[in-house]
Amino acid sequence: MGRSVDVELRHVTKKFDDVIAVDNVSLEIERGEFFSLLGPSGCGKTTTLRMIAGFEHPTSGEVFIQGQPMGATPPFQRNVNTVFQNYALFPHMTVAENIAFGLEMKGVPKAERQRRVEQALRLVRLEGYGERRPLQLSGGQQQRVALARALINQPGVLLLDEPLGALDLKLRKEMQLELKHLQTSVGITFIYVTHDQEEALTMSDRIAVMNEGKVLQIGTPEEIYERPNCRFVADFIGESNFLEGRVTEVAPDRVVVVVDDSFPVVAPGGPAVSPGEWVTLAVRPEKIHVQPGSGQVGVNGHHGGRVEEVVYIGTDTYYLVRLSDRVTVRARLQNRSTGADGRGGLAHGAEVAVSWAPEHTLVLT
Ligand code: ATP
Repeated sequence: MGRSVDVELRHVTKKFDDVIAVDNVSLEIERGEFFSLLGPSGCGKTTTLRMIAGFEHPTSGEVFIQGQPMGATPPFQRNVNTVFQNYALFPHMTVAENIAFGLEMKGVPKAERQRRVEQALRLVRLEGYGERRPLQLSGGQQQRVALARALINQPGVLLLDEPLGALDLKLRKEMQLELKHLQTSVGITFIYVTHDQEEALTMSDRIAVMNEGKVLQIGTPEEIYERPNCRFVADFIGESNFLEGRVTEVAPDRVVVVVDDSFPVVAPGGPAVSPGEWVTLAVRPEKIHVQPGSGQVGVNGHHGGRVEEVVYIGTDTYYLVRLSDRVTVRARLQNRSTGADGRGGLAHGAEVAVSWAPEHTLVLT
């Protein structure tokens, strides 16, 4: 089957008086894709979603759904459905009545409604709950009712605005896996708004990272994580050490940057930089090796340092290592069966050798 675009935004801008909530956003979302809009509070995710739903209209630019320009098409005439964070269930109706509401409005006969309600309840694993009222359900169950109510209309596209935001962490993690499973089995395009990077990485086929109304990067979770294209993305997705330095060598296969006028760091070739230029290097804490013993500065990428802080977090331990007067890096090492205590050589105050592979050094300009 060929690639087919379900939702497209073409140069979409939305202004509220002086505020530019969404700033010239263009993106294409494919049919059946789980696509997330990820970014901090106020970056324009919800406004973007509301324009796809038809609750807001672009100040300029155009939204296309299944190839059709939406113009001022009202929400109910779009082949989309929205699931909100607060569920918006009717408290006086049973679960089954809540789920069937949309079908009843459309005049679908009762027998057909019942059949589809049963099917929707099965889909969200709430068989047998049809006669309860929303307040007799847990938060996670209410969220599933809201999902069933949206899915029963069999929309081409489902829009979800922080749908798991009100749930506690454990339930949220369970629901993330369920949602992903559900999306794969129904094959509907999901457009998912979240500020939670882990949630986006877990569920998405692709992610658009937004900040201040702009889309900074679009890619698969792996692309976004392994090759962030700017400092904001490298910082917002996962964790990064940032090191400022000056380029001293540019070769086809490598770039050398001297950090803090004191130690050289090797990065892969490729970035468009020239000698003398100041750049920022980003290195993930989990890519950094720390070994007991003193490192020789600048030899084979090993830097000598001293452990200043040890933070045990169960699966891993963080080590804050000072490399020079002005530079520290944070390393994240997995705790194997020995636990953190097994690393006597890495205790607070220990002299250590720090290294990471050139391919794990990202040059940001
Ligand atoms: P959050 O995660 O906090 O919901 P968000 O990324 O979804 O944030 P939006 O709700 O899209 O961000 O808001 C983007 C910007 O537009 C914010 O500065 C917000 O204050 C502003 N904004 C959103 N809706 C309106 C409105 N109806 N009137 C005026 N300003 C608005």
